[in-house]
Order: sequence, then C-alpha cells, then structure tokens
Amino acid sequence: MSSRFVIAGSPAARGMALGRARLVQPSQIRVDERPLAETEIETEVERLRLALDTARNELKALRDKLHGALAREVGEFIDAHSLILDDPALTEGLFTLIRQGRYRAGLALKMQRDRLAAAFDAIDDPYLRSRREDIDHVVGRVQAALNRDTTRAERQIASRVGTILVGDTIAPADVAHLTEHGVLGLVTTGGSPLSHSAILARSLRLPMVVGAREALEMLTDDDLLLIDGASGEIVAHPTAQDLARYRQFQREQARHQDALARFKHAPSRTLDGVHVHLYANAEMPADLALARACGAEGVGLYRTEFLFLQRRELPDEEEQFATYRDVALAMGGAPATIRTLDLGADKADATGLALASEPNPALGVRGVRLALRRPEIFATQLRAILRAGAFGPVRILVPMITSAAEISAVRGMIATCARELRSAGHEIADHHELGAMIEVPAAAIALPAIMRKVDFIAIGTNDLTQYLLAADRNNDALGDLYDPLHPAVLKLLAQIIAAGARARKPVTLCGEMAGDPRWTPLLIALGLTAFSMHPSSLLEVRQAIAACDHARLRRLAARLLRAQTRAGIERVLATVA
Ligand code: PEP
Ligand code: MG
Repeated sequence: MSSRFVIAGSPAARGMALGRARLVQPSQIRVDERPLAETEIETEVERLRLALDTARNELKALRDKLHGALAREVGEFIDAHSLILDDPALTEGLFTLIRQGRYRAGLALKMQRDRLAAAFDAIDDPYLRSRREDIDHVVGRVQAALNRDTTRAERQIASRVGTILVGDTIAPADVAHLTEHGVLGLVTTGGSPLSHSAILARSLRLPMVVGAREALEMLTDDDLLLIDGASGEIVAHPTAQDLARYRQFQREQARHQDALARFKHAPSRTLDGVHVHLYANAEMPADLALARACGAEGVGLYRTEFLFLQRRELPDEEEQFATYRDVALAMGGAPATIRTLDLGADKADATGLALASEPNPALGVRGVRLALRRPEIFATQLRAILRAGAFGPVRILVPMITSAAEISAVRGMIATCARELRSAGHEIADHHELGAMIEVPAAAIALPAIMRKVDFIAIGTNDLTQYLLAADRNNDALGDLYDPLHPAVLKLLAQIIAAGARARKPVTLCGEMAGDPRWTPLLIALGLTAFSMHPSSLLEVRQAIAACDHARLRRLAARLLRAQTRAGIERVLATVA
C-alpha cells in the first residue's frame, strides 16, 4: 500500500467522503517523459487504444444511467465528450506521436491537449473558447484510464466507492452536472467557501475542501482519499484508523439526523413564542422535496441561473415555464420566490450571454444589469414566471439592484409582459409581488427609495459582504477579510432590517449566513424574523431558534452594534449562549 499523507485545505462543505481521486486538470498530471524503445511502441499503442475504449465505455455507461429531468442536458454534455473522443483531430495525432515521436501515451495525450487548448485559447468567440474545458475533461478521463496503477488492494476498495474530483477550480455548472454521477466529494486547489460552486456543493450535500494548494501536485488519479469538509483535511491512502474515524462520523451523522428529525414538523418559534419564518433556497428539484419535508414555509430564493449554465442555447419560454411551474406546484400553495437571472461574475454561462472576459466581472454587467441590457431574454424569463404564477403564489425577486430606477424598469417590463400574455389568452394573476435583492451597499444605504417601489426585500449577505468589504467572495487569499461578522456588515444589516420594519415590508435574509446556526441568535438580535437557507440547514436552524429568547436577544442589539471588532461581537453573543 502506498503510504499515508495529509494535505491541508479550507472547509467549504461539511461532511466526510471516501473515494478515489479524479484529477480534472490533465495539464497538471505527472507524465512519464522517457522516450519509448522501438520494442515498446506497439504495446504503448495498445495501452492507449485500451484507455480510449475504457473512456468510451465509461461515457456510454454514464449515458445509459441517465434518467429524469437532467437527462437531456447532461446527455448532451456526455455526447459532446464522446464526439471529442472519436475525433481524429485528437486520436490520429496521438498514434503518430507514439509511433513516430516515440512519446509515451500519457505524454502524447498531454501534448495533444496542450496543442488543442492553445488553438481554443486563440478563438475570439467566448462560447467556443469555453469548450476548451471539454477537451480537458475528455483527456483527463483517458489519462485516468491510462494511470490505473494503484495497488490491487486499494483498487478493490476504490472500485466500490465513488469519485472525489480534484481540480484547480470546479465550475458551478460542473458541480451541478457531474455530481449526479457518482462524485462523492470535491477538492480544489483555489476557490473559496463562498463561491457558487461551494454553495452548490452544500446544496448537494457534497463534502468540499477548497484552497488545498498542493492537491494536484501530490495526488495521482485513483489515489484513495478521505476528505473532511468540516476540517479541510484530505488524507491520501487512509489507514485503518482513518477509516474507523470515517465510520464513527457516519454513525454520528445518523444520530444527528435522528435528533433533528423531531424538528421536522415543529413550529419555528423562539423560547418566548415568537414565530420566525423559515424559507428554502433552491436551485434544483431535489431541494424542493427536501424543503417540503423539512417544513419550509415556501421558497425564499430560487436561483434560476443554473438553468442557463452548461448549454449552447438559452432555455426558451416553455422550458422555463415548466421549471417555474414545477417550483410553484412543489410548494403546494406556499410562496415560491423566483429570482430572475443572476448571470455574470463567477456564473458565466456557456451561451456567451454573460462574458467572463469583462475586466472586472463582479463589478460588471451582472444580474439585473444584464437583464435590462438584454430585454428580449429578460422578457422571456418574466413571461415564463408570470405564467407559472397561475399555479401558486409566485414572487419575483431581482438580483443586484443598485437603484430604484432599475426596479421601475423591471416593473414596466412585467406590466408589458402581463398585458401581452393576457391578450394571448393566458391566465395571469392580478398581482405578483416584486422584491429586490439587497446586496449592493448603495441599495442598502439608500434603501427608502427602493423600498417604496417593492413589495419585499431579500438581503444577499454573500454579495453584500464582498462589496461592502471590497473582498472577493471567491478569493481564498482574502478569507480573513471576508467576514460577515465585520461590525460594518452588522451595522448595515441592522439598518436594512429596521428600514423594512418601518416600511412594514417583509425582509428575508437569504445569504449563506442564514443557514449557519451559529449566527441564528445574532440575526434574531438584529431583528430578523425571516430566514431563507438551503433546506439541509432548516432543521438545525429551527433547533437553534427554539433555544433563543427573542426578547433577551433584542435587548442585546445595541451592545452588539457598539462592538468594534468581531471578537467583541462574539463576546456579547457569548453572554446568551
Ligand atoms: C447573496 O448574494 O447573498 C445571494 C443569496 O445570492 P448569490 O449567492 O446567488 O449571489
Ligand atoms: Mg448575490
């Protein structure tokens, strides 16, 4: 057995996973650079042929397993990979490199990959350029098939467990699609716990470690890994003791789930009887089922951009309508808050609609800014949402609002879409509540003007924190600066919540902070009474609410807001713990 070693990273999604490594950055894979002897050439050609066949069979097996809602999208993606595998531009060059250049298969693959990648990099079209990733994934699969050289004992365990993806970064779209297929955990050398990929990983309950800088250098495909998404530790070639720790974790998980089960249908009330509304964040159908099972009062944030990722054409009105209608139906009469498209920043789509090549994408044409610049695309989405409103109370939430004028523009478009739909014979509700995400500091500070134009607001602390502290939520190096407990963030949160109360309009908080039971008392102290979080956090937060004394916490607010540091804030909170 290979010997055990540990790589350190930062925790991004809780949970432990045992699986074999799959390196998704083939450019980083170590390859044997020694030239082949004349007598080795045909064996090497055969090795490559076998690896290509294995990769083809794996893709076919994956394709055959597909069913349900994602089948079409994921199928398209797998077909594209199968086509690349059969493309002579990739394969013929490979055999020539082995036969004439005497390169080993691994090195030949790497050279072909680098050559194709350079050709893709030179393309102007952002969509085609983004397809370079497909080449990486295909080459990675063939490399993995070539590199299956771990010991037999390890392979026996590895064949029984799934895969842990290891890459520099993992795009949200890849998380969404690949995790459907046996991926048990994620490791990235860069990234941050606040990236959309990390949010998705938590949503899929996939353990994830980010910032594991040495992972690609130290790991080889098929290494057996035990990752701990709570501590950020990655153990390669785990020992019997590590495996015992993993089994212990699984037993504790089962106990924890049992303990939480009693909060499934309990009311969300503080010790002194104040009702706190709990809603669910969702981006895929499985989230909706869990939201219902855990007693969410509705969907507080449905992120629609995941419908737009990893595909060539934009989803049309019918497809979007069917998706949003299903959200409304799944909520069985409870409100479903559909957030309009928030492409841009780290959610660049494959259609080229949001350009990742903007000089400063997080401060660029993102969210409502993109929507208003592409009214034909936005109108399609609004029409689909309005039609879905016939199947349950649907609320429209607009991301990245900076000014009241943007809300007026959206309202105008909604009115036009509703008129057109009615004259085309569609049943449209008389009124759809319209809300603004408050995640740009300017909107938070100049809130009254926006408040007058909306029916509700949702605080997006993930972005509000990054913009207020000028600390990129995706940049691991700024992890210390990016602190939702910074006194400036708390002051702004308190102001927003108070402004909502004065205007008598509902305020929900739907950033990651809402789902972290450590901060439940703090947010209640600031006056928050509606939280929206991934459904997997609902029970824990409900449990935390049940331990809160609302009146006592509210009396702490002034002291919390006077605290000058995070440590000071934590000291005040400790007095009620
Ligand atoms: C936020 O910014 O807090 C939020 C909920 O939106 P997203 O994470 O999708 O940007
Ligand atoms: Mg946001």
